[in-house]
Amino acid sequence: MNTADLVKIAEGANGPVYVYDAEKIKRQYERLTSAFSGVGKLRLHYATKALNNISILKYIQGLGAGLDTVSIQEVRLGIQAGFDPATIIFTPNGVSLNEIEEVAKLGVQINIDNLSILEQFGSKYPDIPVCIRINPHVMAGGNSNISVGHIDSKFGISIHQIPHLLRITENTNMRINGIHMHTGSDILDIDVFLHATEILFETAKNFRNLEFIDFGSGFKVPYKQGDIETNIEELGEKLTAKFNAFCSEYGRQLTLAFEPGKFLVSQAGYFLTKVNVVKQTTSTVFAQVDSGFNHLIRPMLYGSHHEIENISNPNGRERFYSVVGYICETDTFGSNRKIAEISEGDFLAFHNAGAYCNTMASNYNSRYRPAEVLWINNEAHLIRARENFEDILRNQIELDASILSGKATVEA
Ligand SMILES: *Cc1c(COP(=O)(O)O)cnc(C)c1O
Repeated sequence: MNTADLVKIAEGANGPVYVYDAEKIKRQYERLTSAFSGVGKLRLHYATKALNNISILKYIQGLGAGLDTVSIQEVRLGIQAGFDPATIIFTPNGVSLNEIEEVAKLGVQINIDNLSILEQFGSKYPDIPVCIRINPHVMAGGNSNISVGHIDSKFGISIHQIPHLLRITENTNMRINGIHMHTGSDILDIDVFLHATEILFETAKNFRNLEFIDFGSGFKVPYKQGDIETNIEELGEKLTAKFNAFCSEYGRQLTLAFEPGKFLVSQAGYFLTKVNVVKQTTSTVFAQVDSGFNHLIRPMLYGSHHEIENISNPNGRERFYSVVGYICETDTFGSNRKIAEISEGDFLAFHNAGAYCNTMASNYNSRYRPAEVLWINNEAHLIRARENFEDILRNQIELDASILSGKATVEA
């Protein structure tokens, strides 16, 4: 898809809209499968929380993926989208035993990341195979906000607690069929990541009935020019060799699993907004768009960089702008960005808007959440309607004036 296609969608959208390019999702999926083509059995569990539109899920299911889920609602979405429950893995953190039981009853692979629930679940259901999430305590990324493998992380069962873990699995006689780790969202250094996989292999030797090892995700994609990207091809080559060697030693061909979210969908997404006001102050030129952190919160939440392009004037002379929203709150998308000259009414496209953008949207300021469009076979298809005023009021209960004024209590 090109800039003119995006402008056309923006013009027809009547408000902010997310656009996803199916071809790009497919290309990323194929990059990953071909990097690991040397593995006998490979499974990619797409991380639903990155982008959960049902049409996207169906599309990714069609590519041959399984699903990674973190809530029973995501599991239900996946089943609704056509995923076989056996291809869904449930990797929650801190959810109740009750929710895990409900998901297990749907036939979904359970992944447990704490000893308390492991013991309770194992005592109650020794026959349901369980995967365990290990924390190898390896910092795979540079940003401590999103690396979840370090010592004080709340995620996973610490490798230092393996003896305790083994006592639980022996006492309950439960079956461990998978070992899992997910060390964070940024694999900058492949050797650090491979070091974590070594720890996982060591741990795996404690269990005789394994069917798979799941290495989570953390594949880094570029958000701006010059960004380091995980070298998938190099990782594929090195990890394949290690994995195959481990399987020979273990005595059985296991499935190698990953849970890519960002890698599959980030670059496929564009968020299209319209410039309401160009505001020149004594120091800055602001471009104010018809959006805010209610639609795209990553820049404000994590300081994430999203490239911003003026698709209405792509070849215009570049000037410096601060792109901000219309929310009554701090909502700077980007400061001092070099962007082709902006006029009021122009459409700005935010890049890398496929992952963790619309799924984090809210109704703050009583604004509607955006529409979503899938670009496939050179055509735009609406896959989520923009919200309307009824959506804002949905589930709100308007109490009777007599209660609110306190007069009703007299009669009661
Ligand atoms: C969020 C998450 C992922 C996906 O991470 P990305 O960085 O988007 O690829 C994978 N596995 C688990 C357990 C997660 O929580």
